[in-house]
Amino acid sequence: MAAFYSRHRLKHWCSFGFQLPKRNLTAGKFDYDLVVIGGGSGGLACSKEAAQLGQKVAVLDYVEPSVRGTKWGLGGTCVNVGCIPKKLMHQAALLGSAMKDAKKYGWQIPEPVSHDWATMAEAVQNYVRSLNWGHRVQLQDRKVKYLNMKGSLVDEHTIRCVNARGKEMTVTARNVVLATGGRPKYPTHVPGALEFGISSDDLFWLKESPGKTLVVGASYVGLECAGFLTGIGLDATVMVRSIALRGFDQQMSRLVTEYMEAYGTRFSWGCVPKKVEKLPSGLLQVTWTDTQSRQEHQETFDSVLWAVGRSPETKTLNLKQVGVKLNGDTGKVIVADDERTSVPNIYAIGDIAQSRPELTPTAIHAGRLLARRLAGDSSKLMDYDNVPTTVFTPLEYGCVGLSEEEAERRYGKDNIEVYHAFYKPLEFTVAERDASQCYIKVVCERDGGQRVLGLHFTGPNAGEVTQGFALGFQCGFTYAQLRETVGIHPTCAEELTKINITKRSGLDATVTGC
Ligand code: FAD
Ligand code: NDP
Repeated sequence: MAAFYSRHRLKHWCSFGFQLPKRNLTAGKFDYDLVVIGGGSGGLACSKEAAQLGQKVAVLDYVEPSVRGTKWGLGGTCVNVGCIPKKLMHQAALLGSAMKDAKKYGWQIPEPVSHDWATMAEAVQNYVRSLNWGHRVQLQDRKVKYLNMKGSLVDEHTIRCVNARGKEMTVTARNVVLATGGRPKYPTHVPGALEFGISSDDLFWLKESPGKTLVVGASYVGLECAGFLTGIGLDATVMVRSIALRGFDQQMSRLVTEYMEAYGTRFSWGCVPKKVEKLPSGLLQVTWTDTQSRQEHQETFDSVLWAVGRSPETKTLNLKQVGVKLNGDTGKVIVADDERTSVPNIYAIGDIAQSRPELTPTAIHAGRLLARRLAGDSSKLMDYDNVPTTVFTPLEYGCVGLSEEEAERRYGKDNIEVYHAFYKPLEFTVAERDASQCYIKVVCERDGGQRVLGLHFTGPNAGEVTQGFALGFQCGFTYAQLRETVGIHPTCAEELTKINITKRSGLDATVTGC
């Protein structure tokens, strides 16, 4: 109690500008209190937080070039080959649509308007490089030792580090955090897939336009990439093996793909690739099978982008030998609620950990909380429920909580109430844009306080809209509280506060009037 009181008083002093003395846990018989393997979203957040709390920390980050030989700097997937370049290229595509709208709003834009890949790519790549540099500076500022080396475990406290020139050393640590993320999968059973295809690890770093592109896979990565390629004027086809956006609400998923089809992306539904060959012209000839008719088809493309999922980077860490248990099917590290692996002083966070959402904010938040627990500063665990997310397709889709299917499965169809609305974003009106797929769905418990179980939104700025309502979710909000929330007019988000037609009623859910 006395210890708590004095620490509490110290925190109080801090608010008056006094510096809280750092608790140096000192590495003792180890080189470091904490060594983090992987300097991506989770690893950087964890190492910086731990250092801030007085721990002696090192972080190893090493980028193995892609199959095509693409390389990048510090910061992991999100910064270099994920969220950031993806969102910027999505923005490039949105600007193309905005230019079409602009004419209706009176802007005189000389025709033809064209897009230059090289200019976009260079600007995006330069921004990413600035983030790489920013991360290095932050590590230095927080006194985290950055080792541009590939790590693997020798035993539970010893890490073997190897740099690009093959120079080796070992470091020891009281605790080890594994945060090595994942890399794109290739369908190695498809001849020519590895030789001629690219992955999202390459796309954002291409100096030349990928041209006419076949995107194989219809989840987040496939749809987002095909969406922005179409948006910047390229011919893009998505090959879908089964359904799009598996795991998401399937009504919403259909709206997303319907909009994409209307917007110019082609879809080959129920098809799987058979082989990829390079023709003397340099074009790629793809042969695929329609799984329904069993018929084979062929078409030529400039590029084939594999977006068939990601594998965790666990193979070269020597985990099994040290006793860290992996899931035999996924290769991911099995972790407890506190991110601990089967070896007590080894933890895993982010994309390599089993049953965790593969998203940057969850990796960051989990990393920070873990650092606080390791430093003895807190016992708070990461809450992985109700994580909001957005798919940045041409019509963005944001959601938090359960899909309608999952709510039905868990609660029973008769025990849930689904409110829905088709709305028209104001910005679509003058621009004469079709709003058929702009839709909102709120899934609630039917009885009691009608607690909100799931919230789904397609439309402009879906990420911004969903982020706000995610707070309500954290607080366990009800349908009544949603309706009591005063809207901001005129916005798309306000439609959520007005939602009042139930699916069960069968009434027309089209929003009319202001
Ligand atoms: P990573 O960020 O992948 O970092 C792992 C790091 O460890 C890498 O730098 C890797 O090179 C390094 N490493 C691997 N092995 C070793 C080793 N042995 N030694 C040293 N270093 C090693 N999430 C979102 O929230 N929003 C988005 O919009 C979004 N868009 C995405 C778009 C794409 C195309 C992709 C592929 C992913 C996207 N994600 C998005 C997911 C997000 O990028 C990941 O969930 C996040 O980066 C995971 O963080 P992490 O710390 O687990 O691993
Ligand atoms: P997913 O594992 O989610 O999806 C893989 C897709 O590829 C599915 O459509 C799957 O089809 C298909 N597929 C798999 N194997 C084959 C094959 N052999 N032939 C044809 N199709 C195949 O992977 P993603 O790479 O899209 O995403 C990985 C993770 O990255 C996501 O879960 C997400 O968390 C994160 N991410 C987040 C983003 C965001 O927040 N906006 C954006 C991008 C990624 P099927 O359904 O039939 O199995």
